[in-house]
Amino acid sequence: MARTEASPSVQAKLGYRSADALVLHLPIRYEDETRLTRLRDLAPGRPALVEGIISRAEILYRPRRQLLVTLTEPETGEGFHFRLLNFYPSQQAQLKPGLRLRLYGEVRPGFFGAEMIHPRWRSVTTETPLPTALTPVYPTVAGLTQGRIQKAISAVLATADLTETLPAPLPDRLGLPGFETAIRRLHAPMPGDDLSSLEQRRHPAWRRIKFDELLAQQLSLRLHAGQRRRQRAPVLAGTGLAERLLDRLPFPLTSAQNRVYQEIRTDLGQTHPMHRLLQGDVGSGKTCVAALAALVAVGNGHQAAVMAPTEILAEQLYLKFREWLEPLGIRVVWLAAALKGKAKREAAAEIADGDAAVAVGTHALFQDDVAFKSLALAIVDEQHRFGVEQRLALREKGAGNLPHLLMMSATPIPRTLAMSYFADLDVSVIDELPPGRKPIATKVVGDGKRAEVVARLRDYCAGGAQAYWVCPLVEESEKLDLRAAIDAHAELVAELPGLRIGLAHGRLKADEKAAVMAAFKAGELDILVATTVIEVGVDVPNASLMVIEHAERMGLAQLHQLRGRVGRGGRESICLLLYSEPLSETARRRLRVIRDSQDGFVIAREDLAMRGPGEFLGARQSGAPLLRFADLEADQDLLEAARDAAAELLRTDPDAARRHLDRWLPRGDDFMAA
Ligand code: ADP
Ligand code: MG
Repeated sequence: MARTEASPSVQAKLGYRSADALVLHLPIRYEDETRLTRLRDLAPGRPALVEGIISRAEILYRPRRQLLVTLTEPETGEGFHFRLLNFYPSQQAQLKPGLRLRLYGEVRPGFFGAEMIHPRWRSVTTETPLPTALTPVYPTVAGLTQGRIQKAISAVLATADLTETLPAPLPDRLGLPGFETAIRRLHAPMPGDDLSSLEQRRHPAWRRIKFDELLAQQLSLRLHAGQRRRQRAPVLAGTGLAERLLDRLPFPLTSAQNRVYQEIRTDLGQTHPMHRLLQGDVGSGKTCVAALAALVAVGNGHQAAVMAPTEILAEQLYLKFREWLEPLGIRVVWLAAALKGKAKREAAAEIADGDAAVAVGTHALFQDDVAFKSLALAIVDEQHRFGVEQRLALREKGAGNLPHLLMMSATPIPRTLAMSYFADLDVSVIDELPPGRKPIATKVVGDGKRAEVVARLRDYCAGGAQAYWVCPLVEESEKLDLRAAIDAHAELVAELPGLRIGLAHGRLKADEKAAVMAAFKAGELDILVATTVIEVGVDVPNASLMVIEHAERMGLAQLHQLRGRVGRGGRESICLLLYSEPLSETARRRLRVIRDSQDGFVIAREDLAMRGPGEFLGARQSGAPLLRFADLEADQDLLEAARDAAAELLRTDPDAARRHLDRWLPRGDDFMAA
């Protein structure tokens, strides 16, 4: 049978592992071939089904070779044409005068009168019935025709398991159709169906499918969470060492820091691994909470690892950890990719024999040649910059059992994302900044006023303050990125004689970079010209002016993070966002958001609306499967219903839950993001 022959390759080409999964390959739109339209009733630009009898077919050679077929509409005798610019001899042979055709396409006024170009056509008799359902148009890939997909899917629909996976009252209660009804309706809507609600995915049949997808996600997350609770982690109960740091800190914890520290302490005392996200706006003091958590691990005779996405961030953490931990007699080591040879071997040896209680570094920390003696806590800063595998790899370093995992982020996860992708994550929020922070006055300035900005910089630094000059991130090219910073540095050096101006960028060697940062921190430099390497974690309280060039090219979250480098000292702080003209309406809107808000949550929400969820999920790095059908913002009601239903289904009918997951995740992949 041609059908069964076609479907395996269709299935493979579309990337499905099982034939039944093809029932979830859903149309993007429909064509109405259920009724004929008269030529005189055709609306311009709207495709329709017409009928005609061929009166003549000829090959023309000008302006190019083509087959011109002339037809008359049987009922009215009106004439029209269609043209095929590519055709096979077999088609030419078939299209003979007298043949009756049904053609689907758009009719336009053309060179030869009313005409269609490459319509879909088939020969019919007066008896041939019209289809009773709309014709689905499926997403496809190169080399696969609609006809083959349609055939394969209708074959699968005849045999696939479409049984209900939800308990009886649930679909009714939610006002959703049954699974089979929804699937059949979406593949073959009835002529009276509301096409726009189908195509915009608002139709109840669509809502059922989206609900099922979200339910599968929620089930999968709950099962993961259940698994995690069955895993073992070291119980870290004693907190004496952490309390010694608390006594020595030059400041009291804010009440938010304290609350979050208590939450973490409680987690660390459990027998299963912590899986917690510590969320706090730029400058809210996450590092200090992380240091306390590390000390809980160390105080219980284990090790802690602290990982940041870039060397410069990791280094900032390293310096802070040393400053706080070494006076307590705790050995902190540094491990990054740039560390080579003997130094690296020594660091690895200290980690392996346990002399180093805390290791700080980049992803080099979880490479194969690094073995911890007894890793009990993995801390990951700016977690969204890592892929899932990288985050999880650090956990594999636990000896025998899993280490506790503390992730930190200054980019708040919007509620809908937290409920879906991050549902198996406990979240702690530091929602308060340390006292004494000054608001940052943010101004948006066209780069035509660059000279004024430079003059202002001079006055500012003359008064003893320090400033950052940040150069744009050019995504496509690290080289250009570097060029921009080097040029800006050279210009400023020429324009501002007498000021001490340093340069930091990602291509500097680690020790050179560290030297520049240290000089800036020590007040030996007035201005630090930098690429976005200073984005997160750099902490120089005396720096109170920041100029960001080409701010229009940067993401909102990134601008917010950059700006968070100032406003940390006693001085009034200023951030100048330079943009180059002309500025698009969107860019203008985004810069306005940054100018008017200093609230990371407001900014993140705007960022999500403008850029979609991928940024938050680190999906670009991880390739975590995103939802295919549901839209977290638009379908929030379904998300909430799915969350409740998942809990209920696992409790009342685990078999149905299993079948539901098998339907949606036939490859055993899942929706985990964290
Ligand atoms: P982030 O949350 O952005 O990582 P940091 O941990 O770098 O913030 O903290 C920013 C600055 O605030 C650091 O200089 C830190 O020492 C300081 N800090 C942290 N907690 C407090 C506090 N409770 N009171 C005063 N300053 C604090
Ligand atoms: Mg930080």
